[in-house]
Amino acid sequence: MEKAEQNIVHFVKEKEENKIKMQLIVLMGIMSTISFITLLVVVCIYTKVISVPVKGVLILIACTIFAIGIIAMMVGGRTFGYYKCSCCGETFVPNFINFATGINVVAMRRMKCPHCGKRNWCKKALTKKEDDEDESERM
Ligand SMILES: [Zn+2]
Repeated sequence: MEKAEQNIVHFVKEKEENKIKMQLIVLMGIMSTISFITLLVVVCIYTKVISVPVKGVLILIACTIFAIGIIAMMVGGRTFGYYKCSCCGETFVPNFINFATGINVVAMRRMKCPHCGKRNWCKKALTKKEDDEDESERM
């Protein structure tokens, strides 16, 4: 009885944590994209005012911010939550190569399932248990 309660607490906690992580990652992605575009726009608008070395530095900074944002999204997106195989229904955490080479469409990613070995569209799941997105939408 007590153990079951603990499991529920852990389950809810994990779900909440993953939700926050996902929001942070999305926020980071948006922010890095905005700063990237802003810096490029600045370079384009003030192209006559800014000297060439400064331009180069600004573009370098813009690309660095963008790269960090993408890496954070890739690393962060892999390390929290799970992916659910649409063939066997197993949830799993993909390894980096599997993740990086997978095609990503919103919350779906085409990856090889470690359980059944089939390459299929895997859905992002916040918890290891059954997909409860419908439940969270109702809340
Ligand atoms: Zn599978």
